[in-house]
Amino acid sequence: MRLYLFHLGQTGSGSPAPGYLIQTDDGQNILIDTGYPRAMMTLASARSAVGAEPPPGSAAPRVTEADFIGNRLAAIGLSPADIHLLVSTHLDVDHAGNHDLFTAAELVIQREHYAAALANIHPRFAQTRAAWGHPALRYRQVDGDTVLVPGVELIATGGHVPGHQSVLVRLPETGPVLLTIDAIPRAAQLDPDTRTIGPFDMDEAGVRASTRRLNELIAREGVRLVIFGHDAERWETLRHAPEYYA
Ligand SMILES: [Zn+2]
Repeated sequence: MRLYLFHLGQTGSGSPAPGYLIQTDDGQNILIDTGYPRAMMTLASARSAVGAEPPPGSAAPRVTEADFIGNRLAAIGLSPADIHLLVSTHLDVDHAGNHDLFTAAELVIQREHYAAALANIHPRFAQTRAAWGHPALRYRQVDGDTVLVPGVELIATGGHVPGHQSVLVRLPETGPVLLTIDAIPRAAQLDPDTRTIGPFDMDEAGVRASTRRLNELIAREGVRLVIFGHDAERWETLRHAPEYYA
């Protein structure tokens, strides 16, 4: 089993927006999230072409051509049609912008989150609805912690949004790897009691409960590598595609 880390863009605060690919021993390709909408790539190129790039620290995310999930997959010899399962951690703009490319895959989402986004409980989910709500997509809705395939577990970590999910991957050499996604965006937010709450976190009590849950999981499973959702400093220390963790 292999785990690839993709850089799918940069948030307005200069942090990476990642996606992940798990390749199982029996040849399944499991993608986790699809990054910012590809339309933003055009905007970024257009801005840089006229020398009007936003200054660092401004609120505008950046997506280069290489960051686009289609190009990240192509760089390791894959296309969207090769993805069997697409784990959708949640439907924010930096995670669900290109779901519509994955019509050959089965999309796996928490039932609670899918219902919340469909019910439009917050305008943020409407931003990428054309992508995640594409009529050709096939969703499998799951309830809570779920073993997706042997060695890949979905962990229910609501709070950031209802029905957010993190992912635990058991790799043969690296051991258990936890992808916290946005339940814990940065290493500095690992402590459930003292961590900061972000402007996009919808439920503070839920965020603290999920942070505590993940701490318990890290201890219980002996997780050796924790990959945080949007941590610029940690990102620099990680292996990025085409390199991978085995
Ligand atoms: Zn995010």
